[in-house]
Amino acid sequence: MNLLDGKLVSAKIKEDIARDAAAFTAEAGRRPHLVAILVGNDGGSETYVASKMRNCELVGFESTNIRYDVTITEAELIAKIQEINADAAIDGLIVQLPLPKHIDPDKVTEAIDYRKDVDGFHPINLGRMQRNLPCFIPATPYGIMLMLAHYNIETAGKHAVVVGRSNIVGSPMSILLARNSNPGNCTVTLTHSRTANLKEEILRADIVVAAIGKKNFVTADMIKEGAVIIDVGINRETSETTKSGFKLYGDVDFDAVAPKASWITPVPGGVGLMTIVGLLKNTLEAARGTIYAK
Ligand code: NDP
Repeated sequence: MNLLDGKLVSAKIKEDIARDAAAFTAEAGRRPHLVAILVGNDGGSETYVASKMRNCELVGFESTNIRYDVTITEAELIAKIQEINADAAIDGLIVQLPLPKHIDPDKVTEAIDYRKDVDGFHPINLGRMQRNLPCFIPATPYGIMLMLAHYNIETAGKHAVVVGRSNIVGSPMSILLARNSNPGNCTVTLTHSRTANLKEEILRADIVVAAIGKKNFVTADMIKEGAVIIDVGINRETSETTKSGFKLYGDVDFDAVAPKASWITPVPGGVGLMTIVGLLKNTLEAARGTIYAK
């Protein structure tokens, strides 16, 4: 078993981003700038946004966190997004999900200028990704592709099984793995809660991407010997033994699955760190105007 080490790979890529950000800042006279909007105070979201902001500063970006109470209306939120869309000094905008029930996430996503949509959730970016055109790729799948590339994992001709079909992870992941690119060129099976014989499907996989949101869902009996295992899951449980008061678990039963895997991502220390890298890379590209000209 070999570890797909998110700590190591993310640190290395962040060094490159920091160098490129410094060059941008020297030329443009300002830093790449990411704005994150956070509505409410969901514990997980707070942690993710704080980590995104911290990492922006670490690589030399400017970062702004705009916080709203859960009582903000959809119209107020969209008005703020439009104001940011029009602000030339802001390169990237993300709205942390989930949003409160009274706000439609699709409306919010589509209100963001696709040229600032560094989460890659806007239908224009998703459509362009599917067509293999330059676009912002959703951060988590992007980070996973960077991880596969870093370790030179052979993907062409392999059978990849993605478990979970969300708009932010599973679905875009299946598109990227199937694209005619490297990494890519997989034969992809996209599975979900209505998949019949899920275990048999996963057992046929050379590459498994687990994005379900259920602790230790993927067990050793579901895995083919030598498979590559990508665990996207972040399942938080309260814990008395950690300083933070909670502990993170993946969607894969790491201890049982690792001995059968050729490569595997740990949780924490795997995909989560690569997601940040995906977001930082998108923000840098937004600032430079290399994907969409300014
Ligand atoms: P969603 O809840 O949006 O999607 C979960 C998917 O899993 C759905 O497609 C669902 O199927 C499927 N699913 C649920 N139960 C089963 C089952 N019993 N068998 C097969 N499929 C099932 O989650 P996300 O995609 O947003 O996130 C998935 C996990 O990844 C979560 O733990 C989340 O915290 C984590 N995550 C981690 C990130 C990172 O940076 N590492 C980033 C984003 C998410 P159906 O569509 O039929 O309901």
